[in-house]
Amino acid sequence: MKDLTLQFLGAAGTVTGSKHLLSIGESELLVDCGLFQGPKQWRVKNWEPFPLPLKHLDAIALTHAHLDHSGFLPRLIKEGFRGPVYCSRPTADLLGILLPDSGHLQEEDAAFANKRGFSKHAPALPLYTVEDAQDALKYLWPVGHEEPVKLKNGFELQFRANRHILGSKCALVTAAGVRVLFTGDLGRGRFTADDPPPPAADYVVMESTYGNRKHPPDDVRPKLAKIVHETVERGGSIVIPAFAVERTQKLLFRLRGMMDEGMIPQVPIHIDSPMAIEAVKIFMRYSEEFTGETKELVKRHGSPLGWPEVYFDKTVEQSKAAGASRQPSIIISASGMAVGGRVLHHLAQRLPDHHNTILFAGFQAPGTRGRLLVEGAETIRIHGEEIPVRAHIAQLEHFSDHADYEEMLAWLEKFSAAAEGVFLVHGEGEAASAMEERIEKKFGWPVQVPGYGEKVVLH
Ligand SMILES: [Zn+2]
Repeated sequence: MKDLTLQFLGAAGTVTGSKHLLSIGESELLVDCGLFQGPKQWRVKNWEPFPLPLKHLDAIALTHAHLDHSGFLPRLIKEGFRGPVYCSRPTADLLGILLPDSGHLQEEDAAFANKRGFSKHAPALPLYTVEDAQDALKYLWPVGHEEPVKLKNGFELQFRANRHILGSKCALVTAAGVRVLFTGDLGRGRFTADDPPPPAADYVVMESTYGNRKHPPDDVRPKLAKIVHETVERGGSIVIPAFAVERTQKLLFRLRGMMDEGMIPQVPIHIDSPMAIEAVKIFMRYSEEFTGETKELVKRHGSPLGWPEVYFDKTVEQSKAAGASRQPSIIISASGMAVGGRVLHHLAQRLPDHHNTILFAGFQAPGTRGRLLVEGAETIRIHGEEIPVRAHIAQLEHFSDHADYEEMLAWLEKFSAAAEGVFLVHGEGEAASAMEERIEKKFGWPVQVPGYGEKVVLH
């Protein structure tokens, strides 16, 4: 009998680049195919050839559409992998906008490096192009919820419930009689419908992003209402940097609900992101995944694309008009940590005016403009110009898409039997070791925090 092994090729010691390889003999399944993002020591790994011969890789399973779980796929296909890539239907739809956008950013990065002469080997090439990303989409193989997929060498794959973003799933893989559950990113259940407990598994490969943190337990709405009221009374506008997929839609539904209840004034909302518009269309296709609250809002008002006083700014001209308007409004635009995108134009315009508020709706990573602003920077550099910060800066951490440690422990508690082992991935060192201690203390299960490239024998 051949060994069943599991190797950690990403999201080990860091929160990006998720890639977990299950092997029996010469048969391999890769769960997630994420891009390394953030610190350079990790990003350079995107450029290294895949550490194993691709000829043994039979299939890939993607837990969800976020690029740190899916964004390496175009590169792997460029290197010669030919699928299939299993994922849920909404994930395939979301990848249809996210991967080409990632290709576009890769092309922009290369062009920027060439312009500045950064590249050692001129000309700098993109990791992959829009065209490569479009090509990768052909290898996606959407499968239904809990639909069993039989792979080579007795591997069986099934996508199970998860509450992270639209279409996100846990991947349950059975091989040689051993059940391995990959959590993907665990969510909080605020947007999707209530789900059943996790399936029984012998091993759990679990994310640990918030292994040492807890989300604010209170209702976000009174705080958000206060910010909107105060800004509108000053005659200012609120700029919310937000990721175009999921976060923007969540904010939009939240604000609509608050307007309905009279908690905030009826001011125009601008969604300034072409990608967010496409994402709304995809969300509306899968409305069965919404919470009761969101379903109710859709029943009352229809698709957000038709809501009065909500403007989806597709063109640059529309975006500029929203920026120039002096009427109090709420502008939601990407990127969420203000590292790029159209939100930079809004920040450059609104930051120097003390009437306005810049509201960050989530965690801001070190080194980003978002982090500098919430830490009280007096000026900020945008498009080569030093912009004075006079606007009010606010941050609400209630909108996270990740379960905190208490929610993760509650999820593990629903397991019907003890796990033979838990592998903690997708967490910075401190978060993963805090979570390791908590699981060992509460359940007495063996826990490991694998290092990059580490390989373990499961059976
Ligand atoms: Zn994610």
